[in-house]
Amino acid sequence: MTDLDVVVIGAGFAGIYAVKALRDAGLRVAALEAGSGIGGTWFWNCFPGARCDVESKDYSYSFSEELQEDWSWSERYPAQPEVLRYLHHVADRFGLWANIQLNTTVTSATWDSDRAQWAVVTADGAARTARFLVSAVGCLSASSVPDIPGLGSFGGAWFHTARWPKEGADFTGKRVAVIGTGSSGIQVAPEIAAVAGHLWVFQRTAHFAVPNRNAAVSPEADAAVKARYRAYRAQARESMLGVPLTGTGKSALEVTAAERAGAYQEKWNAGGGMPFLGLYTDLLITRKANDTVAEFIRDRIRETVTDPAVAEQLCPRDYPVGAKRLAQSDDYYAMFNRPNVTLVNARTSPIVSVAASGLRTADAFYELDAIVFATGFDAISGALDRIAVTGADGLSLKSAWAAGPHAYLGLMTAGFPNFFIVTGPGSPSVFSNMVLSIEQHVEWIRDCVSHVLGEGASWIEPLAPAEEAWVAHTQDVAYSTLFPLADSWYVGANIPGKAQVFSPYVGGVGPYRAKCDEVVANGYEGFALAYNGTR
Ligand SMILES: Cc1cc2nc3c(=O)[nH]c(=O)nc-3n(C[C@H](O)[C@H](O)[C@H](O)COP(=O)(O)OP(=O)(O)OC[C@H]3O[C@@H](n4cnc5c(N)ncnc54)[C@H](O)[C@@H]3O)c2cc1C
Repeated sequence: MTDLDVVVIGAGFAGIYAVKALRDAGLRVAALEAGSGIGGTWFWNCFPGARCDVESKDYSYSFSEELQEDWSWSERYPAQPEVLRYLHHVADRFGLWANIQLNTTVTSATWDSDRAQWAVVTADGAARTARFLVSAVGCLSASSVPDIPGLGSFGGAWFHTARWPKEGADFTGKRVAVIGTGSSGIQVAPEIAAVAGHLWVFQRTAHFAVPNRNAAVSPEADAAVKARYRAYRAQARESMLGVPLTGTGKSALEVTAAERAGAYQEKWNAGGGMPFLGLYTDLLITRKANDTVAEFIRDRIRETVTDPAVAEQLCPRDYPVGAKRLAQSDDYYAMFNRPNVTLVNARTSPIVSVAASGLRTADAFYELDAIVFATGFDAISGALDRIAVTGADGLSLKSAWAAGPHAYLGLMTAGFPNFFIVTGPGSPSVFSNMVLSIEQHVEWIRDCVSHVLGEGASWIEPLAPAEEAWVAHTQDVAYSTLFPLADSWYVGANIPGKAQVFSPYVGGVGPYRAKCDEVVANGYEGFALAYNGTR
C-alpha cells in the first residue's frame, strides 16, 4: 500500500483547494510546499504594491457558500496581505493544516508502472509513495533573475519581487533601480518612488496599463454581491475570462470613433483591465480593432506624463493591447512626473553589467544602493521543469516538453500516468480569473481520481492522438487571435533558450469547461484506463 493516495505539490490557491477536495472525497492526501507558509503567489510576492488585478468578488473561491458568506473583502482589488489572510482563513476554516507540509521542496517524482505508484522525493531526502500526483506548482512561481555579469559583486542589496523578504525592505532616501516594467514592476515602482532618493526605471518594453480605481468595499456593496453570489458565479463559469463582463457585443469597427472614445473613457474611468478588453468583440481578434484601444491608451499616457519625450517612450507600439498581460495601476504613469524618477531605455541602452557600486548600461553608469528585479517568471512550465519528473518507461517530463509544454485539456500528458496538472498548458490558466480555473481543474481531477478508483483501474493516462489534437486545437484558436503577436512570457520569450510555444487555451473559460465535461460524459474520451498494470 502506498503512503498516501495523492501527493499534491504546492499550497497556493490550487494546492489548498486540492487538499480540501481530495480529502473530502475520502482520500489520504498531503500537499508538499517549498515555502515556509501557504499561499503560493500571495506568500512569495509580498513586495510593496502587490495586489490582485481581478476584483476580489471574483478572485476568491466559490466552492463553499458558507465561506463566501463569512468572508468580506475590504477592497475592490485587495493587496497581498489580505489575500494571504484569506487563504489562511480558508485553511483554518476547513481544518487543512494537518494535510499540508511546509518547507518541503519536491525534487523528483518517478512513476513505477509495476506498482502503479509515484515515488516523490523531497530536498530533505525523504521519499513518499502515492497512487496519484497532482502538480499545483503554479504558472507564475518559478521566479527569473536575469544573468547579469557582476551581480554577485554588487555592494548594495538586490531583490526579486517574487522572493521579497518577509521583513520588508527600506528604500527611504536610497538610490534604487527597478528592472522590468511588467505587472509587478508597474505595481512596485510607484511605492519605491514615494520614498526613494532617486528611482531609475529600466524599461526594455513599454507596457500598457489601465487604472484600477481601487476603492474600499462598503458593507452595502458587500451585501449586494452576497445576495446574488450564486447566480453571479454561475455567469462567471460560462464566461470567456472567468469574470462576468458587460461588453457591447459589437465590433469596435462598427461604431463611430466618437462612440468608441466615449465607451473607452467610461471603462477608463471605471477601472479594471478585463472590462476594457471585453468591451468590443474583436479587440483581441483584429489588429485594426485593437489599434483603436491602443491609441486611446497612448493618448491617456501622453495626457498624464508631462515630459512629451518620456511619454513617447512609455507608449507601447510593438504589440497589441492585451497580448501581454494588461497591467493595472492608478499611479504608474503619473509617477514619471516626479523629480526623483527617471525612465531609462534599456532597449536602446541595454544593461551590460553590475559592479560593486551600481549598474552599467551600454552608455552610462548608475550609482545605486539597491536593485529590484521585477523580471517575472519562467512561466507555465518553469516550476515543473525544476522537478525531475519521470513517467512510464523512464520518460522525463523535461524531454517530453523539450519543444514546449503540452497536455491534453491542459490536465494530463501522455506517458505520465496518474499525473495531473492544475492550470497546465492547454487550459485557460493565465488567460482567466485563475481562482475559478483552479476550482474547475481541482474538481475535474477529484472526479477523475474517484472514477479510476471506482473502476478498479490501476491508472489513467491520455492517449497521444487525443493530446495532439487538443494541442492543435489550442494553436488554431490562439492563432485566430492577436495573443501570439507579442514576445511575452505567455510564449516563453522572456527566458533565454526556452522553446517558444503559445500554450494557454484562449477559447474561453465557458467553452473550455463544456469540453472538459463532454469528455467525461463520453466516458473519459481520449483517455485510457489500465487494469492490473496493463491497458
Ligand atoms: C503579483 C501577482 C499578482 C497576480 N494577480 C492575479 C490576479 O489578480 N488574478 C489572477 O487570476 N491571477 C493573478 N496572479 C496569478 C496567480 O499566480 C494565480 O492567480 C494563483 O495565485 C495561482 O495559484 P496556484 O496555487 O496555482 O500557484 P501558486 O500560487 O504559484 O502556488 C504554487 C506553490 O507551489 C510551490 N512549489 C513550486 N514548486 C515546488 C516544489 N518543487 N516543491 C514544493 N512546492 C513547490 C510554490 O512554492 C508555491 O507556493 C497573480 C500573480 C502575481 C505574481
